[in-house]
Amino acid sequence: MRILITGVAGFLGSHLADHLLADGHAIIGMDNFVTGSPDNIAHLAGNEKFSFYRRDVSNYIFVPDKVDAILHFASPASPNPQSKSGYFNLPIQTMKAGALGTHNCLGIARVQGSRFLLASTSEIYGDPDVHPQPESYAGNVDPVGPRAVYDEAKRFAESLTMAYHRFHNVDTRIVRIFNTYGPRMDMEDGRALPNLLKQALLGQPLTVYGDGSQTRSFCYVDDLVDGIIKLLYSEEHLPVNIGNPVEMSILQFAEAINRVTGNQAGITYMDARSARDPQRRRPDITRAHEILKWEPKVDLEEGIRRTIPFFKQKLGLA
Ligand code: UDP
Repeated sequence: MRILITGVAGFLGSHLADHLLADGHAIIGMDNFVTGSPDNIAHLAGNEKFSFYRRDVSNYIFVPDKVDAILHFASPASPNPQSKSGYFNLPIQTMKAGALGTHNCLGIARVQGSRFLLASTSEIYGDPDVHPQPESYAGNVDPVGPRAVYDEAKRFAESLTMAYHRFHNVDTRIVRIFNTYGPRMDMEDGRALPNLLKQALLGQPLTVYGDGSQTRSFCYVDDLVDGIIKLLYSEEHLPVNIGNPVEMSILQFAEAINRVTGNQAGITYMDARSARDPQRRRPDITRAHEILKWEPKVDLEEGIRRTIPFFKQKLGLA
């Protein structure tokens, strides 16, 4: 297949490009580098199966070649208010990438008869009052809350995707992505793994927000990409959760990072991020298991070990 990936220079987009190239596909990548980095795709320069266009997918996109599939991954995604590349500081771009960007991609898919896969998110569940979260759970979100620009854009994107599927018969897929980590994460985007692993490698105390009892479930990037590609190859049109169901508190997560890195500096407690920091999050992956025969394989300590070399290199410690 010839596959268009928007957000190809991002953390997930670049890993998807690598895996799909290895599967024999040709990749047309697009990115405007607002949050993605040229470093993430530098190794693909010269690969004759990879072409790149610097584009903002919120504007009309012209694709010169026939594309068989489109993976729409372009969007800011970090919730950290301090981060320049987080969606708090890119609120309009975030809404445009989810709304206009999705519309543009679906327009191409409709005209060209391409398959379309939307990168959605566990954030569409908001601060959930059902636990773990199955795809049938409609969410607990606030349209004017602090995370609204991201979660409402993604909710709109899901609705638009289903509308194109139901009304125009576009061959669509929707993946709801839960917390993921691995090499090529933006070290400055303020999320839990980049912040804490960087601190650990520098021998600093790890900053845990609040009392650290809030939970997340962290998936290693190779497992996530494997699930997304299985979904792309499947015939499933309704949303599918992809994430690791092993839930832990952020305090346990920080302790695991200190253990694996041998960091002796401990933990320092900071103010909670906000009252809207989701308190619990864990995917129910029953559907992924049944439909895709998928489940994650890499445990947290192994995933941290695989991520360390990238961070060491970025920090000049390698
Ligand atoms: N967090 C933390 N210390 C940090 C960065 C994040 O305790 O230095 C917490 C944050 O408050 C949240 C969790 O880690 O409860 C996951 O945050 P992240 O930004 O990775 O993404 P989220 O799951 O909130 O979308």
